[in-house]
Amino acid sequence: MIVLVVNCGSSSIKYQLYEMPEKKVLAKGLAEKVGEGDSILTHRRGEEKFEIRQSIPNHKVGIELIIGCLTSPEMGVLTTVKEISAVGHRVVHGGENYSAAIRIDQEVLSCIEECADLAPLHNPPNLIGINECRNALPGVPMVAVFDTAFHQTLPKEAFLYALPYETYEKYRIRKYGFHGTSHAYITSRAAAILGKPAAEVNLITCHLGNGCSMAAVRGGKSVDTTMGFTPLAGLIMGTRCGDIDPAIIPFLVSKPEYSKVSDIDKMMNKQSGLLGVSGVSNDMRNLEAAASKDPKSRAKLAIDMFCYRVKSYIGAYLAVLGRVDAICFTGGIGENGPRVRAASVSNLENYGIALDPEKNKDARGREVDLSMDGSKIKILVIPTDEEGWIAEETYNLCK
Ligand code: AMP
Repeated sequence: MIVLVVNCGSSSIKYQLYEMPEKKVLAKGLAEKVGEGDSILTHRRGEEKFEIRQSIPNHKVGIELIIGCLTSPEMGVLTTVKEISAVGHRVVHGGENYSAAIRIDQEVLSCIEECADLAPLHNPPNLIGINECRNALPGVPMVAVFDTAFHQTLPKEAFLYALPYETYEKYRIRKYGFHGTSHAYITSRAAAILGKPAAEVNLITCHLGNGCSMAAVRGGKSVDTTMGFTPLAGLIMGTRCGDIDPAIIPFLVSKPEYSKVSDIDKMMNKQSGLLGVSGVSNDMRNLEAAASKDPKSRAKLAIDMFCYRVKSYIGAYLAVLGRVDAICFTGGIGENGPRVRAASVSNLENYGIALDPEKNKDARGREVDLSMDGSKIKILVIPTDEEGWIAEETYNLCK
């Protein structure tokens, strides 16, 4: 069964074509700068890479171009578009309506539209992607896999903010959590590595990439997570500030250079985090290089702050869970960054967490157990596979 996975952003379309259930990637690619003029589609078939530079004025043209690539004799892997049996869509926000992937019908579409209020930058392009795929592939079942779904198991004491209760009832203000496909995939892999059913594992999962979030997982289910009402909360990220005192916002509004809330919003999302503190880069590799040259630099400070925040949440989630089987690292930094991993779990031996520096040193981009023999809590690196998880969910619903 051939499954197409689509992740539609405001100016990009990411796709992967899978043969299921083997989860074999037949082709994948990325259309960038959709609607911006100098668009480019990078299409890959195995080791072969094709770059198509042509105007992609909108998502409709983008989807048609992608389907054209998949079926083209030169670049494609399909004889006809009819070979695609199902399409899985990444959808950022499912609100409180969906705790699992779902076959898309009119009701699901309306719900995604309704949730656009909560994710105005993400749900509208996700919807456009679904509609354009429906037009291009009539009759093919479509599945929505929500970033928020995995965290719908949070108990009320974890997901509510201590604001007047009406803000939850009237405006749906609560912690939703994001990166759910990644945390769900990591949970399923960690259970397999630990040799236990998912329903028996307790984990702290750390997705550390450009966006960062952690989850406390009890019995395979998310019971707390660091992102909140939006993906701005929690950990320090590439350009996002993570947790701050909310009173900073009204304070800043009274200052001349921040008098517009939209400017503060932009500052917190695009000019803060590792970039804002270091003044150098949002990219951990650049910061590590800068910190090695000058240990007194703000790049070093930014890394220290980043790791301190991760460690603080590890402590919090140890307390939330009581028993923890493993701490799992994923995302670009979690999978490839020994320095951050080591600092984030340093001096926690009294809590049963002992990292083996030798194993940590060379662990990059592959599944590996980094803990010392005898460490009560395992420390695992698990490369994430959000697209693969979406393909699996789609396959399971449509097979
Ligand atoms: P992602 O958003 O998951 O692609 O992750 C992007 C982040 O991973 C960036 O901050 C990169 O600097 C970081 N990253 C990638 N490779 C490495 C590495 N070898 N060491 C440290 N950080 C890395």
